[in-house]
Amino acid sequence: MNPGPPATAPACPVCEERRWFPLLESMVPVHCNRLEDSAEAARAAPKGRFELQLCRACGMVFNTAFDPALMTYDPDYENAQHFSPRFRRYLEELTADLVERYDLRGKDVLEIGCGDAYFLQLLCRQGSNRGYGYDPAAPVKSPDPSVTLIHDLYGPQYADRPADLVACRHVLEHLERPADLIRSLHATLQPQPNASIYFEVPDGRFTFESLGIWDLLYEHCSYFTDRSLHRLFHRHGFTVSGWESRFDGQFLALHGARANGEASAKEPARMPVEEPEVPSWAAQFRQVYHEQLEQWGGRIRQWVDQGRVVVVWGAGTKGVMFLNSVRGADWVKAVVDVNPRKCGKFVAGTGQPIVAPPALAELRPDVVVVVNPAYREEIVTDLARRGLQPQVEVLSVAQQDPGLAVG
Ligand SMILES: [Zn+2]
Repeated sequence: MNPGPPATAPACPVCEERRWFPLLESMVPVHCNRLEDSAEAARAAPKGRFELQLCRACGMVFNTAFDPALMTYDPDYENAQHFSPRFRRYLEELTADLVERYDLRGKDVLEIGCGDAYFLQLLCRQGSNRGYGYDPAAPVKSPDPSVTLIHDLYGPQYADRPADLVACRHVLEHLERPADLIRSLHATLQPQPNASIYFEVPDGRFTFESLGIWDLLYEHCSYFTDRSLHRLFHRHGFTVSGWESRFDGQFLALHGARANGEASAKEPARMPVEEPEVPSWAAQFRQVYHEQLEQWGGRIRQWVDQGRVVVVWGAGTKGVMFLNSVRGADWVKAVVDVNPRKCGKFVAGTGQPIVAPPALAELRPDVVVVVNPAYREEIVTDLARRGLQPQVEVLSVAQQDPGLAVG
């Protein structure tokens, strides 16, 4: 049954305009990071409708078919990235920057959506701070005596909790209505005029400009650019004091404070430059999306026809989306991951086993597809240490064919 276009187009979750530019439509696994115990269960994992649209007014990209009822975040949900040495270094650098920037020494640091509180723990240890992590899915036991875990959403009931910094990393992109969180934060921080805020999200512009088709996942229903993120905070009473591009441009970070709070007295950051209605990156992305799926499908088929063993390195979202999006990726033998909690499990949608790096000795891959270019060096070093010299390919359109990179 095709219900046809809705009578009323959904409003942009940031600016509430209703003028869209469609980017893509597909069916994808609802839980990229859900670990399954058998190949059968993994292949039977539910899929959801993905209709990405760009708001012509503010540049926000949003899945207009997102159904939050399909989402469940339970103990089977696994997205901790800090098992990678490089990602740990990133979090350590970020911690050092924040401690310096906000003089976080003996202060109160709150984190919205703290997960297992690894990052919050770093912040507390580095500056002898007191940490409060809000997350319904936080572990029962705190990893550190300086960190208190609250198994709840941060909201007005916690307004009396002193806050020098409120951090929130990689949460907004999961929300169908991100404005609700920002509006609530504005109300909650009313008695905390000195609180600064640090928000970090995947950089939507980077994702689309670098043709990061493997970074699009059902769990991420919202894709922010500097412009739409600025607009969201500004619209709901925050002053933006700084921007940063982090993790090789993959993350977008916003510094700010509640408007009229003492912390907002600093020089506000300039609004990012206006963009055309449909930026070039959006038009380019739509055009290249299907070409890339075809190209990778062809390469994998060719390798398999030559009898070569192909493995994918990285069972995170990029790896799962690559395997689910590219036709023929079912022939990939296995997926390697350094996260011990993922090993022994199976990839949602396609069912490949997830193995630890030592299993490569037996698999003896001819081709290793590295899903995140940021980890290439780390992986090549690991392979060499095991006496393996497979062909290493990286899922990066810009590196594969510079002609496709958007200037
Ligand atoms: Zn908008």
